[in-house]
Amino acid sequence: MLKRHFGGVFNTSKIIGKIRKSKLLLKNIYNIGMLKVRIPFAHAKSIYEIDGAFFTKLGVKYVLADLDNTLDSYRAKLPTKQAFELKERLAKEGIELIIVSNNTGNRVSTYANALGVRHLNSVGKPFASKLLKKLAKLNIKKEEAIMIGDQVVTDITCANRAKIKSVLTDKIVKEDQITTRFNRLFDRPLRRSLKKKNLLVDWRNI
Ligand SMILES: [Mg+2]
Repeated sequence: MLKRHFGGVFNTSKIIGKIRKSKLLLKNIYNIGMLKVRIPFAHAKSIYEIDGAFFTKLGVKYVLADLDNTLDSYRAKLPTKQAFELKERLAKEGIELIIVSNNTGNRVSTYANALGVRHLNSVGKPFASKLLKKLAKLNIKKEEAIMIGDQVVTDITCANRAKIKSVLTDKIVKEDQITTRFNRLFDRPLRRSLKKKNLLVDWRNI
């Protein structure tokens, strides 16, 4: 009786099979969940190479641009010439450039005021709730916005959670702020994986 009882419970090959199956299931759930929220709508080498026609085609009226390493280096306290040119170029197409950053008030407001654009700071990317509240306050419809940023783990994930279109860009300069350096540990393999799976679509091919 004892043998029969334990024989039923400790059927090792059955147990191993079940563990393998559940591990595989968990892996699949994790991958699907992870990837969906990490996939950008489009990819660009830089925010500065995207032309206005891309935005107007999509009905975009607001470009929500990340600041550090998307518009400029985190060391640039004031906007560079190309940032001014971008703002003007978009304005001519009826598109407003708005800075959306996780960085603190002073850093973002100094830069944004010099550039003459509105800004949202301490947005809490990759989470979407703060961004959505701030956009609602400004009466900005998310269908009319597009998020552009250099990090999958913050910018793109936040945009996807908020159901806003997004463009992933490459870093504008090599160096990052300390907090960003930590994020890059996750960002680099994610980018590699997105590339490998052909999930980085150039904005020109949209
Ligand atoms: Mg950035």
